Amino acid sequence: MPKTITLLGSTGSIGTQSLDVARMHGYRIFGLAANSRVEILQKQIEEFHPEYVAVVDPAACEKLDAALAGTANAPKLLKGPEGLRTLAAMDGPDVVLNAVVGIAGLPASLAAIESGHDLALANKESLVTGGHLVTDAVKKYGVKLLPVDSEHSAIFQCLQGCADRREIRRLILTCSGGPFRGMGRDEVGRMTKADALRHPNWTMGPKITVDCSTLMNKGLEVIEAMRLYRLPLAQVSVMVHPQSIVHSMVEFKDGAVLAQLGTPDMRLPIRYAMTYPERGENPAPPLDLLNSPPLTFLEPDRETFPCLRLAEEAAEAGGTACAILNGANEEAVRLFLAEKIGFYDISDLVAAARATVLVTQTPSLEEILSADHAAREAVKSAFARRHS
Ligand code: NAD
Ligand code: MG
Repeated sequence: MPKTITLLGSTGSIGTQSLDVARMHGYRIFGLAANSRVEILQKQIEEFHPEYVAVVDPAACEKLDAALAGTANAPKLLKGPEGLRTLAAMDGPDVVLNAVVGIAGLPASLAAIESGHDLALANKESLVTGGHLVTDAVKKYGVKLLPVDSEHSAIFQCLQGCADRREIRRLILTCSGGPFRGMGRDEVGRMTKADALRHPNWTMGPKITVDCSTLMNKGLEVIEAMRLYRLPLAQVSVMVHPQSIVHSMVEFKDGAVLAQLGTPDMRLPIRYAMTYPERGENPAPPLDLLNSPPLTFLEPDRETFPCLRLAEEAAEAGGTACAILNGANEEAVRLFLAEKIGFYDISDLVAAARATVLVTQTPSLEEILSADHAAREAVKSAFARRHS
């Protein structure tokens, strides 16, 4: 039976690929949400006829309202972060797919779960900042949490049939190594925004692409895996795998290692989250192992890429430490994308925020959001001090 979906973050990289999957399989779209790209949203509305559209940026919302005036069967518009949460909670879809970037996705993830919706989650920052709130709510409301991030989808696939999580010895997250793999610190320190945005294997939004170049993305994914599978840091390891064909692995206590392989195409994990527990048809060319490069695995370089270590330290510290790490990183990446800071300023600013903002254990949503705010302020004032 065709699914009905609410898609949050529809104008982004995951959002548009999710609509490719919806188009291919004839899914109905109940709601769409985005921050500000009105022209893309308008085209999506014309094609998919959603009943509701949430636009977070107020000026963009007014622009869309004006553009839709007089249109027959125009969707009802919801405005601001409140509109995003309202849409996430609305009855109508079989599944809510959260492809918003950043901690802005956390309240929407919680709203969807608390309204009894299954949640397909690409927004890793929800789990990094509010992991215990998300997983506790999933348990309380008896809904499914379906990972879209390719590594976590790979692990989810490898764990089908594993009834007892105590059988897991460790999860092995693979990592392309990013565009600066193999370079030394001096060379990496000279890398610019344009260099960081050139990812070797995946095309993604700008924030996650920069996170891939610093290895913060892998650090966030370590935390995401710990929260999703309720495992300590000691049971989540990272291996650099430059070919991005093995999407992640699970090592069991008897020594068996299961891996999920495929071509790098986010539509596979998106589709699996939509069709789970079944598998949908995929018209893309299959993985051609006979003509693939040799599959290689390396230890990540935590000296050249300190963000991975910073994330692992935050994971150990627990509580709001991960929200502080994430908020500081979001702010530092914003400055890097605005070409106001250099590559190693990102990790320096994150470390500065972690050193100054106090950590609270078992935080509420309000405490997580205020830790995020404090971390952003710490980054802004460290940046201002350097430039005064
Ligand atoms: P993107 O920048 O391409 O798109 C982000 C989407 O979020 C856009 O639709 C934008 O309008 C919306 N958005 C931005 N700020 C918002 C706000 N404050 N409130 C509501 N909506 C807002 O990002 P992306 O690459 O599609 O990534 C989305 C999420 O998926 C991220 O958490 C990322 O880490 C995760 N993810 C992405 C990929 C990938 O291949 N792109 C892979 C794995 C995980
Ligand atoms: Mg990933």
